[in-house]
Amino acid sequence: MAKMEKKKPVHAPIIGFPVKEGQLTVGGITISQLANRIGSTPFYAYDRNLISDRIAEMRKYLPARLKLHYAMKANPMPAVVHHMSRIVDGLDLASVGEMAVALDTGMDPALISFAGPGKTVQELSQAIAAGVVLNMESQGEMENIARLAKEQGIRAKVAIRVNPDFELKSSGMKMGGGPQQFGVDSEEVPSMLKRLAELDLEFIGFHIFSGSQNLREESLLETQEKTLALAVSLAKFAPNAPKKVNIGGGFGIAYFPGDKRLDLKVLGDGLSDIMAKFHEVLPDTEVVIELGRYMVGDAGIYVSRVIDKKTSRGEVYLITDGGMHHHLAASGNFGQLIRKNYAVAIANRMDVTQSEQVNIVGCLCTPLDRLGDKMTLPSAEVGDYVVLFQSGAYGLSASPTAFLGHPAPKEVLV
Ligand SMILES: *Cc1c(COP(=O)(O)O)cnc(C)c1O
Repeated sequence: MAKMEKKKPVHAPIIGFPVKEGQLTVGGITISQLANRIGSTPFYAYDRNLISDRIAEMRKYLPARLKLHYAMKANPMPAVVHHMSRIVDGLDLASVGEMAVALDTGMDPALISFAGPGKTVQELSQAIAAGVVLNMESQGEMENIARLAKEQGIRAKVAIRVNPDFELKSSGMKMGGGPQQFGVDSEEVPSMLKRLAELDLEFIGFHIFSGSQNLREESLLETQEKTLALAVSLAKFAPNAPKKVNIGGGFGIAYFPGDKRLDLKVLGDGLSDIMAKFHEVLPDTEVVIELGRYMVGDAGIYVSRVIDKKTSRGEVYLITDGGMHHHLAASGNFGQLIRKNYAVAIANRMDVTQSEQVNIVGCLCTPLDRLGDKMTLPSAEVGDYVVLFQSGAYGLSASPTAFLGHPAPKEVLV
């Protein structure tokens, strides 16, 4: 039998999703009402006000001159991207599929940049016609862009994505430093710039992205300082002063017990000093940061329902209609070295005081499909709503929805 104990409600750390009459709410709507409105579970729900609040917080603490771009791959839901397009300064994308969504928002193409290794001739051609900034990942790509732009009679806007000679320390995912499939090694950039000057291309600047999911202010600031110093040294070889330098981002969010949320004030004060030094040398160059996870990650939840509850040799299993096919990251299979539990709530039993230890699993026929291991939660029954927090970034679009042939979940922006 399950261990039963009487104590205070056991809730995961929850920010921004208040409880009303024992139920979790999203944008003021109780979970059961939202589920009724959507008509089926599982689903993802994103709260537009929480996203706007996060951007407002960034504007408050980060330097006024710093431009904020949204990296669409974190959450490419068209309604989310449209909402972002009205509150950020630009969109960064990594495919022509994302480009179509970005252009539909009405955002000025000059404020949209397209990065990604392995852009095909077809994709380059579409991006040139669209007038977005192409972040070039190799010399070969530059030659292709120059040829295609000439054919179209367009002067393409280009930036060089630089693979720096340093890395972002203590990142969840490193994407710069050492050998990489991303960008042009910094030592090759001067010769590439020399060639660029011979081509009929509009040089916009540099893109230097080092990594993702970092929760250490001092590592982030150290990298930002090195990044801007690298941009200054490379700018000497450019045909014109860079209009923009995109210094990446990498701001992480707190997923797990013990994770400390980033202190935006510390980051803002540090960045302000670093940018002041940079602007002494390049006064008219815009500094851009691009963030995905930090802007939307905390604002989303993934909701599934308990289909079955059973006990196996003393362990209780809540089997849900969701799973890793919708939320790969929560199952611990999206680049994590060890699986840790996301914050979870039984969303229709927020004021239930009786708790038990449970394992939450999905409906897939694979032992990888785990959403919560040995979690102490309010006692749940079949039909209850299981909510996973911190699901606004790298959720649905980063999951193998075709695996095992279950239907895809819905998504709503509330
Ligand atoms: C993935 C990616 C981002 C966004 O990273 P987050 O950790 O979600 O902020 C930004 N820029 C580039 C080039 C990326 O590939």
